[in-house]
Amino acid sequence: MSAAEPIQFDPDVVRADFPILNTVLHGDKRLVYFDNAATTQRPRQVIDALVNVYEHQYANVHRGIHWLSEQSTDLYEDARESVRRFIHARDCLEIVFTTGATAAINLVARSWGDRFMKAGDEILLTEMEHHSNIVPWQQLAERTGCLLRFAPISDDGRLLVDEFDRLLTPRTRLVAFTAISNVLGTINPTAELIAKAHDAGAIVLIDAAQSAPHQSLDVQQLDADFVAFSGHKMLGPSGVGILYGRERLLEEMPPFLGGGSMIRRVTLNGFEPADLPAKFEAGTPPIVPALGLAAAIKYLEGIGMQNIAQIERTLTARAHTVLNEIDGIRILGPSPSEKAGIVSFVVDGIHAHDIAQILDQYGIAIRAGHHCAMPLHKRLGVAASNRASFYFYNTEEEIDRLGEAIRGAKRIFRRN
Ligand code: PLP
Repeated sequence: MSAAEPIQFDPDVVRADFPILNTVLHGDKRLVYFDNAATTQRPRQVIDALVNVYEHQYANVHRGIHWLSEQSTDLYEDARESVRRFIHARDCLEIVFTTGATAAINLVARSWGDRFMKAGDEILLTEMEHHSNIVPWQQLAERTGCLLRFAPISDDGRLLVDEFDRLLTPRTRLVAFTAISNVLGTINPTAELIAKAHDAGAIVLIDAAQSAPHQSLDVQQLDADFVAFSGHKMLGPSGVGILYGRERLLEEMPPFLGGGSMIRRVTLNGFEPADLPAKFEAGTPPIVPALGLAAAIKYLEGIGMQNIAQIERTLTARAHTVLNEIDGIRILGPSPSEKAGIVSFVVDGIHAHDIAQILDQYGIAIRAGHHCAMPLHKRLGVAASNRASFYFYNTEEEIDRLGEAIRGAKRIFRRN
């Protein structure tokens, strides 16, 4: 279905799949869950899949030759195939199960970074990165002497592409950036930036933690080298994430963690690594979370990623309208047409934690703080912000409740 076609989507039907959305708290407040950028909720279909594995299909994978282990191994590899299809990768060899986006980025920093980066080489990041896409590179810089550069952003939270171009030089070996900012909601021009980086001879890591759950992702069309994302932000269980890597690059990289499964042969004198992707999956992998992620992908594909993006665009536009009607609110990031379903804001004279606490009394769950992006908050000149982040199961009526609750908070603090 193209983005322009009307969506056959009934929010009530979808919401009925998510048991937790029926929660009533503080007496009579129905839960409004607006902390989806931190982690999403799970539909019954994913919960049932997890229970089913434990009741009927669970054993360790790639080890036993008994029937149950063969069943779970097949399901685990089927889950890899689901991920491959979801991100349009060429081959399952390029799909590495990790414990999350953070683990995936660290894997690249440790394995690719330690092997290929040297003193004076540069990594280009942006000012809007999550700590998970800053600290592993800082650690790499400490180990190797490589240098980090940060492409700046505008005051309204858009990447300054001219500055990005200026900082991209023959010394740049790696460009790593988020496809969607977890604070600003800014949608970066991913394909354009990848093409520029490749023209400059650099490889690219995309932090897709906030984009894979919300937009369709085609790693071949993007020509991406590495892509990292987490299952728990896209209806799946926590404890599983994905590193997509271009086969040629993964082949050149040494294993990061050592242990069972990642070897072809071990002697007392050394080891020979296994083929891809096992080379990067040492130890017992996140078996059940991976199967849960496959169930989540099936659910997302049923709704359609273009539909999800379209629903979230409507919610974001509504949130901007509602918040802009309230005096003394500064919305961080660009206009709704340039952002995903993440709306961070600051209320004049009221600390972000106080807002979040009062909203909780209204049954509304939002995030308060720096959202693992301290350098970005420093750039924006705020110590902390509030973040309402949406998924396709949220409604415009819930956003109206957000507006009423913020007005309530302002009354308590006499900021009217
Ligand atoms: N990158 C971005 C943009 C994120 O928003 C997050 C989580 O909030 C991460 C990376 C890290 O994800 P995880 O904690 O699942 O490893």
